Amino acid sequence: MAASIERAAEVSQSLTEIRSRVQAASLGSAPTLVAVSKIKPASDILTCYEDGHLDFGENYVQELAEKAAALPAKIRWHFIGTLQSNKAKALAAIPNLHTVQTLTSAKAAKALDRALPTERTTPLNILIQINTSGEDVKSGLPPLTSSDAGSSELFQVAKLIITECPGLRLQGLMTIGALEQSLSASETDKNIDFETLKETRDILQKLLREEFGESGQSKWGHDSKLLLSMGMSSDFEAALKAGSDIVRVGTGIFGQRPKRPVES
Ligand SMILES: *Cc1c(COP(=O)(O)O)cnc(C)c1O
Repeated sequence: MAASIERAAEVSQSLTEIRSRVQAASLGSAPTLVAVSKIKPASDILTCYEDGHLDFGENYVQELAEKAAALPAKIRWHFIGTLQSNKAKALAAIPNLHTVQTLTSAKAAKALDRALPTERTTPLNILIQINTSGEDVKSGLPPLTSSDAGSSELFQVAKLIITECPGLRLQGLMTIGALEQSLSASETDKNIDFETLKETRDILQKLLREEFGESGQSKWGHDSKLLLSMGMSSDFEAALKAGSDIVRVGTGIFGQRPKRPVES
């Protein structure tokens, strides 16, 4: 499945460039760069893998399952597409599925947890998707404001993952955000979606600490913090400067994708 020499050189060069831009914009702790390979051939993924890259993101369950079966088992797959409960089983069956970044319901959490193969030795990392821009076309739970957070669906789903889904580990929150925000927010303007996700994370983190105490911190997050997945090709540097832990870059590494009916 090797890529042509020209294509491999092109992908390799873009990956190197994006990596150094991620490094330069990072606030200190090493962020995770997820290379979003949807619709791109397995040969492109292999090129990045051979350059030492392990984290890849895919939006469609069947495409992910096929690529995972054909590519090295050391790859850490991130599912970043819309998650339907009826696809949870096929998704959970992928042995090297590392993170589901787009969980939005208790039902999907339970379906994933129950479908995890018994051979699996590590928990499946979960990010809950937040619809920070409130657009109808985007999925995700609503962001939190301090007043109603305790009774929010987000807090309920987070608690359910921690207490009733032993195969899952709640790692943090993810947003896509409005395109206008990423286009208009300059160096000085804050991107409202990033700020909203951070605020929601801070509120949820506080609630979880109150609910589960210090010892409960081993059951969620990373070093007792919830991670943030925000930032894509057009705005990953701004996202990193705003404190993102995980950025998802497709076009910047693999080039433009052909248009295809949106299902994410
Ligand atoms: C496709 C996709 C990306 C990558 O977008 P680019 O603009 O190509 O970097 C990131 N996140 C999600 C959820 C996506 O669906």
